[in-house]
Amino acid sequence: MKRKSEYFQGCLIGGAIGDALGWPVEFMRYSQIKGKYGKEGIHDLVISSSGKAEITDDTQMTIFTAEGILRADSVLNNQQICDEALSVYYSYQRWLITQGYTKVKEYEHIYDGWLLNKVELNARRAPGNTCLSALSSKKQGSINNPINNSKGCGGIMRVAPVGLYYEKEKAFVMGAEFAAITHGHPSGYLSAGAFAFLIASLIEGNEIELAINETIAELINYDNHKECSDILVKALELAKSNVSDEEAISELGEGWVGEEALGISVYFSLKYSNDFEKGLIASVNHDGDSDSTGSITRNILGAYLGLGKIPMKWMESVELKDVLLRLANELLNKSSN
Ligand SMILES: [Mg+2]
Repeated sequence: MKRKSEYFQGCLIGGAIGDALGWPVEFMRYSQIKGKYGKEGIHDLVISSSGKAEITDDTQMTIFTAEGILRADSVLNNQQICDEALSVYYSYQRWLITQGYTKVKEYEHIYDGWLLNKVELNARRAPGNTCLSALSSKKQGSINNPINNSKGCGGIMRVAPVGLYYEKEKAFVMGAEFAAITHGHPSGYLSAGAFAFLIASLIEGNEIELAINETIAELINYDNHKECSDILVKALELAKSNVSDEEAISELGEGWVGEEALGISVYFSLKYSNDFEKGLIASVNHDGDSDSTGSITRNILGAYLGLGKIPMKWMESVELKDVLLRLANELLNKSSN
C-alpha cells in the first residue's frame, strides 16, 4: 500500500530532527561526544536561545530542493516547457543569498518567493564549501557537464524531496541531476540518485530491505556505480550481522563523502527500522558527519515509519516545522506517487 501524507511529513520532519540532533556534534570525534554528553552520547535535541533546535544546511537545502521542484511543477502544469534542473539550480541560487552572498545581476529575476525572508533559513550553519563555491561560480553542473570532481555529501543530503515527488526511476535520474549541479564526481551524484530512489520505493509501500535491494539493482545500471553499490551491499551485510555500531561505522567510513553518507544511513535505517528514537541517537554518535548521517537516516525512516512514530516533543521543538509540513503536503498534492 502506498505511503501517503503522514510519510511525506515524516520524511521531511524526520530529516530535520536528525540534522538538529547531529548539529552540535558535527565536528566532534565520538570520544569527544561521550566526554561532553555522557557515555551514551548526545541523545536529546539541544534547544538554542531561540527556543528551537537548530537545523543546518542539510535541511535548509532540502527545503530549497522542494521549492525548485514545486516551482517547476507549476510551470509544467501550465503546459509550458520547464527545465526542472534549472528550476532547482535557481532555488539553490536563492539559498546562496540566504548564506550571505550578494545578489548578482544575471539572476535578478529569480530572487523572489516566500522562503527568502525566513529568518531561520538565513542563518549560516556550516554550509558545505563545495555547494558555496559551485553555486557562486554561476556555472550549472550536470552529469554530462561536471563542474568539479567533488563527491562530498552535499549532493545527497538535500534530495529527499525528489523521492517524494517523482516515481522511483525518475527520482533516481533527477536526484543525481540535482546533485550534479554542484557535485561532479559520480559518487557525489549517484549516491543522491540512489537515496532519492530509495525514498520513492518506500513511499510506494515497500519494506525497507526490499527497497534497498531495488536501489542497488537500479544503481548498477549507471556508469561508475561501484563505490556506491559496494558500500550499499556492505551496509546490508553489516546491518544483518551482530557487529557493534562502532565496528560497522569503522568499516563504512565517516559520511563526509556521498557514498559513505549513503552507506552509513542505510545501515542505521535497516538496523533500527522499528525504532525512530534509538536509531536516531545511534546515527549521530560517531566520529563523522553527524548532522548529515542523522538527517539522511531520518529522511529514510520518516518515509518508512511515518510522522506518528516520531516523538512529539522533538517534532514540536525543531526549527521550521511548519515550513516542512507545508512543503510535504504540497509535494504530496503535486506528486505522481
Ligand atoms: Mg549540515
